[in-house]
Amino acid sequence: MSGSNGKEKDSSLSEEFLRELDDALKEPVCPECVMCGWCCKQTVCYYGQWDYDRHQCMFLTNDNLCDKYEEIVKYEKSIGLEVGLFGSGCCLNYANPDRIKLLKRRNGEP
Ligand code: SF4
Ligand code: SF4
Repeated sequence: MSGSNGKEKDSSLSEEFLRELDDALKEPVCPECVMCGWCCKQTVCYYGQWDYDRHQCMFLTNDNLCDKYEEIVKYEKSIGLEVGLFGSGCCLNYANPDRIKLLKRRNGEP
């Protein structure tokens, strides 16, 4: 009897654990994107196209924004993508020089 109860408890605990894990994985875990544009100068995302002359994605604007932002958001929404390209933070490289420069400037550092 107690063995069977124990098994039921284990299984419900494990379902709860999996549910919590699933929720945790949906939370953004990367630091904030400060729109430095560095990632789009290293390689392109699924929607990008490399500009060999400028050595960056051809859709990266001069003020480091994505020229396809509206189009990408609209497309990802249309296919019901849960985690889109934008809004999950900066997961590529925590120590990229452009990001650090922007963060320092924001903190009033030289
Ligand atoms: S390198 Fe990081 S901070 Fe800079 S634009 Fe890309 S995601 Fe944002
Ligand atoms: S399409 Fe936009 S987000 Fe993707 S690499 Fe180009 S500029 Fe960056």
